[in-house]
Amino acid sequence: MLTLAYLPVVAFVIVVAFELFWPRRTDARGDVHRWLSNIALYIINKLGSRGIYLLLIAVGMEINEAQSATDDGLLKATSITLAVLVLFDILDYAKHVLLHRVPFLWRFHQVHHSDSKLDFTSQFRFHPFEMLLAMTLDVSFILLLDIPVYAITAVALIGSTWGMFQHANTHALKGLDRYARLLLVTPNLHHIHHYTDAAAANKNFGVMFSVWDRLFDSYLSPKSLIGDTPQYGVVGLNERGNLNPFALLTLPFQASNTVTQVGLDQDQTPIKSLKEES
Ligand SMILES: [Zn+2]
Ligand SMILES: [Zn+2]
Repeated sequence: MLTLAYLPVVAFVIVVAFELFWPRRTDARGDVHRWLSNIALYIINKLGSRGIYLLLIAVGMEINEAQSATDDGLLKATSITLAVLVLFDILDYAKHVLLHRVPFLWRFHQVHHSDSKLDFTSQFRFHPFEMLLAMTLDVSFILLLDIPVYAITAVALIGSTWGMFQHANTHALKGLDRYARLLLVTPNLHHIHHYTDAAAANKNFGVMFSVWDRLFDSYLSPKSLIGDTPQYGVVGLNERGNLNPFALLTLPFQASNTVTQVGLDQDQTPIKSLKEES
């Protein structure tokens, strides 16, 4: 568990190196305004959720007092952690579909989609209300299923590391993507989900495993995209330029007619106007 705790730190160093030496797009570099907005949301989310998270850990430790990874043994602890990883991944998939299908929820989720460039800081760009909702759901399942603290911690560490890779502005592991996406929601698959095109933004909802998108017919392979190099973000918001943290926090509360519809548009027309990035 102690070794796993270093995972996000090691991943952070690797991702930064990848973005520096093997960038996917060069226009995301040096965009200080974007970085400041994303980092501001990260800090707000961390401060806001810390109290709740600590409470969760305290409650979790009490209910799982007898269940430490050492008590359970390596094989059992690994199996439980993997099962929790899969369970939370299908929950994340369902949650993500709802964030796009329910207009009230999309208002908050569009903050994440409003990033017109992608790099590892895009992983920080979530509205605190979306974070709060997600955490409430997670806590409910953790308490309901009496999930051991070690499994929660491991899954949280793996999840945040994967999120960083998924959004990274790099082509460093491009050669592996076609194999990795058989099982995983690779950066290539998740970047498609950030395209301004509604038919692309309503595909690839998965977080860790690509199986849910394949099962529920929301999988869009980079192979099926041809045409112009796609834009990231949300049409209507991209035109407003870099949104400051206050604008991002208040975005969900704007009048209905200014809320973008991209995430809600369920048009399933196959996309032929976009191309796989080379
Ligand atoms: Zn989304
Ligand atoms: Zn994303």
